[in-house]
Amino acid sequence: MSLIVQKYGGTSVADLERIRNVAKRVAKTYDQNNDVVVILSAMAGVTDNLIGMANTITESPDKRELDVLLATGEQTTAALLAMTLKRMNYPALSMLGHQAGVITDCTYGDARIIEIGAEYILKLIQKRNIVVVAGFQGSDVGGNITTLGRGGSDTSAVAIASAIKADICEIYTDVDGIYTADPNICEKARKIDRISYDEMLNMASLGAKVLQIRSVGFAKKYNVPVHVRSSFSEEEGTMVVSEDAGMESLVVSAVTHDKNQARITLTKVHDRPGVAAKIFAPLAEAGIVVDMIIQNIRPEGQTDLTFTIPKAQFDTAMDIERKVAEEIEAQDVLGDKSIAMVSVVGLGMKNHSGVASMMFNTLARENINIMMISTSEIRISCVIEEKYTELAVRVLHNAFGLDKED
Ligand code: ADP
Ligand code: ASP
Ligand code: MG
Repeated sequence: MSLIVQKYGGTSVADLERIRNVAKRVAKTYDQNNDVVVILSAMAGVTDNLIGMANTITESPDKRELDVLLATGEQTTAALLAMTLKRMNYPALSMLGHQAGVITDCTYGDARIIEIGAEYILKLIQKRNIVVVAGFQGSDVGGNITTLGRGGSDTSAVAIASAIKADICEIYTDVDGIYTADPNICEKARKIDRISYDEMLNMASLGAKVLQIRSVGFAKKYNVPVHVRSSFSEEEGTMVVSEDAGMESLVVSAVTHDKNQARITLTKVHDRPGVAAKIFAPLAEAGIVVDMIIQNIRPEGQTDLTFTIPKAQFDTAMDIERKVAEEIEAQDVLGDKSIAMVSVVGLGMKNHSGVASMMFNTLARENINIMMISTSEIRISCVIEEKYTELAVRVLHNAFGLDKED
């Protein structure tokens, strides 16, 4: 008998038929004498629709109220699944994030889990109930509803799995595992059987949205084995686990892309101490995370400074930087939303040279211009024009020998 957490994503609960399919899977696991806790996402598209509705009322909806609104997506699917299971004569029970003891900080829209009081769930499981929890949500210490950022029900699942000491956390989605590149844009991507937390952390941070990055961080910290698999097939998926000796250590093990970035350049910034702080401090205050930064020195003692930020925060960041530019007497603020970042990731890169030049040559052969470059020990990222994303992923995947055989 095992304690199993199963998380089903938006496409897996997109309509009542699919919710029935999920109920059958849950029931089967339960019948095999396991205890099951299910974490659900909202139906595919629902979170986007709710955001759209809020934006129709006002350009910047109140963050507290927006979270109350967004949490309803997961509330709906949790109730529908519990009803379906009950109809099938299974002892199911739905609960919202706060009922499941998910306590977060008070950053509406992007809250972090502080702790999970697992007693209530555990008590119900001991009585052989199937507990269905609304993912993506929790509440702060004041009892306000919070949400965990887009894709956050992955994090709910892993955090709850760790709190109740589940044997495994299964993430059911619309692809049958983690691939060497997004299988929806790279036909030749190969499924990976086992991947280390660290590699997956890098992939998630570089755009592989198959797992929300925080869920991987949690899994690593608390050593939760995660199995990413499809809710539409019986096939084994990908195990995300600690690095072990038997793991393939390819120089490049995956290619990722991220279209959710935008670029801002301040031109002719005076080259003197304190300027960078003036540019970035107000962004940090507004909670905007800056990713890449490059600075070019011009001969006249002036610099151009370019950085990337999440696309969703582009307008706010531009407003902030226009004010900063005036204050520090920079010449201009230029923005570009049609960019993407492509990256190659691999633990084996630590001991290999030539990866960067291979990446640059491959992109050059396709006439793809590189606007920005950033590297770490186990990844290289290039910012390119958004329209070349798919092409870049495919040619890099091929160049680094990742294509599956026909
Ligand atoms: P869910 O709604 O189930 O949480 P998501 O849409 O959040 O599903 O994540 C699954 C999607 O992640 C896939 O449909 C795929 O397009 C995308 N994806 C990106 N990179 C990868 C990758 N390397 N391996 C698998 N899927 C990936
Ligand atoms: N429904 C939320 C979203 O669309 C959370 C999730 O699906 O994980 O981002
Ligand atoms: Mg997701």
